[in-house]
Amino acid sequence: MSVLEKITSEDAIALEDKYGAHNYHPLPAVLSRGEGVFVWDVEGKKYYDFLSAYSAVNQGHCHPKIVGAMVNQAQTLTLTSRAFYNDVLGKFEKYATETFKFDKLLPMNTGAEAVETALKLCRKWAYEKKGIPENKAQIIVCENNFHGRTTTIISFSNDPVARTNFGPYTDGFIKIEYDNIEALREAIENNANIAGFLVEPIQGEAGVYVPSEGYLKAAKELCEKHNVLFIADEVQTGIARTGRLLATCGNCSCADKHCSGTPEVKPDILILGKALSGGAYPVSAVLANDAIMGVIQPGNHGSTFGGNPIAAVVGMAALDVVKDEELAQNAFELGELFRAELNTFIANSNIVNAVRGKGLLNAILINDTEESSTAWDICMALKENGLLAKPTHGNIIRFAPPLVMNKEQLLDCVAIITKTLKAFEK
Ligand SMILES: *Cc1c(COP(=O)(O)O)cnc(C)c1O
Repeated sequence: MSVLEKITSEDAIALEDKYGAHNYHPLPAVLSRGEGVFVWDVEGKKYYDFLSAYSAVNQGHCHPKIVGAMVNQAQTLTLTSRAFYNDVLGKFEKYATETFKFDKLLPMNTGAEAVETALKLCRKWAYEKKGIPENKAQIIVCENNFHGRTTTIISFSNDPVARTNFGPYTDGFIKIEYDNIEALREAIENNANIAGFLVEPIQGEAGVYVPSEGYLKAAKELCEKHNVLFIADEVQTGIARTGRLLATCGNCSCADKHCSGTPEVKPDILILGKALSGGAYPVSAVLANDAIMGVIQPGNHGSTFGGNPIAAVVGMAALDVVKDEELAQNAFELGELFRAELNTFIANSNIVNAVRGKGLLNAILINDTEESSTAWDICMALKENGLLAKPTHGNIIRFAPPLVMNKEQLLDCVAIITKTLKAFEK
């Protein structure tokens, strides 16, 4: 079979099934084209994308500005490694650090690599600046976290599917309940070896779990008091997804472009990925001020592809689009509308218990057991009706469309979702 030959959905699925490792369980939609909020399958059926590649495609599919920058750079210079300088990395670092208000940026490729980078940075800071004795540093993490798939990261996961039979596990992590400030206080107080607190401002993979108002702020204050680094994993929540440039911006009233307000929480270490790429090309980054990033010296850390010229221009274009098109503002407004519409439906529904989220990172909780197939069945029906979404944990369905959606499209999607859900009412 020629690679250019047209393929049916059935054949594409069969190929992946036979030749690919079975490390995912995809919805049976075989996509061959995307534009803005839409994707098309190989048979030509059009869908609203309500996952956005787990929030990597915030700027919409194939955004011309991002693709243009990528193609142009790809025809000029693709990779130098960091053995030499390139003429765009510095510009990206300047742009991103000014946007997020940190002194320095360390570029990587994927979210998991950026999390690993943040953990190494935190540990090195702990030994060299805080004075924790060698190999004693501990980092506090939260139950039901999702930070990626490396051996160290899954070591502090509590998801048996992600963890089982991948041991021995990496030491040095203490797990506490999410959204429980007393648990954090207990873990931090009376333990001089705590180096950092790694947290998702909203737990995305866990089912879009939004912590109580004031939790992050109180957590940051505790960290400050005990000289513990507050590490925000904004790989999924960052870059306008939750209606602010960052979820840690909280209710800072700026809502969008060129924020000059004071964020609710200013992390010591900020981890970005996913939408920093506009969905075009892997780009991730760790940001911190000099007092922390200064501990990293030549040879301590690196990546062949991290900070490559294509990634640098893609990262800049991805941030440009977020600012130019005021995507944070749009996500904020459409998110309010989406939850209001869904809540109206839920008031008379026995299949959906609740909708929760911030901006355009939302989830509905299906009224069925964790083990039931109802959420999957609903996603299959949504697919038939022209909208792609995926269950997260058992009976939860995440709704995260590209942020370039307009109000008319959102209401169209609400109509598809409510029509589909009605067919499942008991
Ligand atoms: C997706 C995700 C990661 C991992 O990113 P990859 O690019 O898949 O390695 C880390 N943290 C959070 C919160 C994520 O959502």
